[in-house]
Amino acid sequence: MEPFQLQQATDVPYLTLNRWEQMDPTLVVGVSARRLQIDEDRLCDNYALHVQDDPERVRQNRQQLVDELGFSLSAWTCGNQVHGVHIEQIGIGERGRGNKLLEDALPATDGLFTREQDILLTSFYADCVPLLFYSPDKEIIGVAHAGWKGSVAGIGTKMVNLLNEQGAKHEHLQVAIGPSIGACCYEVDELVMSPVREQLGSSCDTIATATEEGKWRLDLKKFNQELLVRAGVPQKNILCSSYCTSCDEKLFHSHRASGGKAGRIVVWIGKKGFSP
Ligand SMILES: [Zn+2]
Repeated sequence: MEPFQLQQATDVPYLTLNRWEQMDPTLVVGVSARRLQIDEDRLCDNYALHVQDDPERVRQNRQQLVDELGFSLSAWTCGNQVHGVHIEQIGIGERGRGNKLLEDALPATDGLFTREQDILLTSFYADCVPLLFYSPDKEIIGVAHAGWKGSVAGIGTKMVNLLNEQGAKHEHLQVAIGPSIGACCYEVDELVMSPVREQLGSSCDTIATATEEGKWRLDLKKFNQELLVRAGVPQKNILCSSYCTSCDEKLFHSHRASGGKAGRIVVWIGKKGFSP
């Protein structure tokens, strides 16, 4: 069953990860969806400041979303994503970094985690794989941006190790793999396949299918799932979205489907504080 559920009754459409929100009522976790009725403007529902868009409109979109989620924009925290594997722990001092200005985002950061409440960790996607982390025993939450580069460089494994160092036990760690490009729409060549094969060896057959000489259809979500299991996360603790961002371009932004002109969806995770 698809773990991300579309909420259509709101002005700002989004999907929530109900299973986790039921596990912990203070947890807010989800993915933005596109506003179907105004899709003639590709960027009307863009949440990222690093694409060519009016920054004021991006800030308005973020404000509308946090109003809907019951957070404040001052809790919105993000990194400047570079397809790397750098992960930052977010404390009170970093709360709000990048919420209004790209220059203020955590530099060259593709992963965020926090032990604090009232911080909304956010990251941005147009086909890349969102990885969400939740450790119920230690109350740590995290998010990592895993495109092909971040995936082969092991950002998921790195996050698991960092959370483990913080006391989060592997057997309790929950991971959700969000909507991203599916194998149906992700044809790659040897340059992309070679490092994947180096990581997985013979089990590569389960995540990639040869289409023609030198071409494969690669399942980036399954690839990350396999790496997470190898890093010690129990298979049963991993939820994986079946949404393909390229097939579902009406619901998500897709770099491939748009020919590189896409905006970005936002993925978030935060714990609501008890203060008003
Ligand atoms: Zn597809």
